[in-house]
Amino acid sequence: MIIVMSTSATEQESNNVRDQLRQYGLQAHDNYGTQRVVIAVLGDVAPVRDLLMSKLSVMPGVESVTPITKPYKLTSRESHPEDTIIEVLGARIGDGGLTIMAGPCSIENREMMLETARAVAKTGATILRGGAFKPRTSPYSFQGLGVEGLKYLAEASKETGLPTITEVMEPSQVEVVAKHSDILQVGTRNMQNYSLLTAVGKAGRPVMLKRGYGATIEEWLMAAEYIVAAGNPYVILCERGIRTFETYTRNTLDLTAVPLLHHLTHLPVVVDPSHATGKRWLVKPMALAAVAAGADGIMVEVHPRPDEAKSDGEQSLTLDQFADMSNALGQIHGMVQTLIKDPFAMAVSATGASAGKH
Ligand code: PEP
Ligand code: MN
Repeated sequence: MIIVMSTSATEQESNNVRDQLRQYGLQAHDNYGTQRVVIAVLGDVAPVRDLLMSKLSVMPGVESVTPITKPYKLTSRESHPEDTIIEVLGARIGDGGLTIMAGPCSIENREMMLETARAVAKTGATILRGGAFKPRTSPYSFQGLGVEGLKYLAEASKETGLPTITEVMEPSQVEVVAKHSDILQVGTRNMQNYSLLTAVGKAGRPVMLKRGYGATIEEWLMAAEYIVAAGNPYVILCERGIRTFETYTRNTLDLTAVPLLHHLTHLPVVVDPSHATGKRWLVKPMALAAVAAGADGIMVEVHPRPDEAKSDGEQSLTLDQFADMSNALGQIHGMVQTLIKDPFAMAVSATGASAGKH
């Protein structure tokens, strides 16, 4: 349930609403917009919904009371109509600008991390990525440099000025990863690792939650809800492909997720065409398509010598290919800004237009 307070509501009137909720054993979660307070109700509303709605809707200062039928509350657009903008070291994600996260799949050594960072910083990257704790399908594959890798990533950030993102695989790693990196990444394999989601929810760093390769949009939003419910409203969603019957590509990139998520949630949406396709030559077209669909950003893997990469070389762009893609993305993004500002409004007007023709 969402309670929208009127623009003239006093703090006392909002407090009265919170008290009323507490009397029913429910919690209030406030969203302060620029104009008004919106109070989301957390807890088991169902048994008292009708009674509560009639009581709340006549309380002074209350403009409207709306039941939320969706299982995700804090992450839903209904509870928080304005876009969430995440600011980290001067980079803004979700503000209408284009976020480009780039860097190697794995941080292999200090030199390659610095070489990649210097190149992508000059050619359009706004956030630096690099894997230190690597979730590998085979226990015999390179598992990452761990804390040593985190230090190289932090050094590259210091030199280039770019904020960083890196994966955290388990709750015990959260503290050290949060110490060295600006954004924490939860990978596809851990999307439903609820103890990890709660831990990153308390880490005080923005989190990028990648879609589970077998997860529905709703399961994904419920996973994001864990992070926000734990106290961290700064969550970025990253579509990275799902598993289907198709085997030509590593995964199937579900670009529908981009406008759909913008409709369902206020959280920024980023697309990773590298893990989605598994093929270098497909990365640029899919990155362009993602931005054309309205994505707030993309994440791509880049390696100075992909053929020598210790992981995911086949899907890693060379430094030149990254520069070329980044330039093309800037052009597409400029056009898209005027074409699809509000996908939901577009959906509504499209329905209206077709209804008018019949
Ligand atoms: C990654 O981005 O390094 C990664 C392992 O991605 P995913 O979790 O999407 O496979
Ligand atoms: Mn990878």
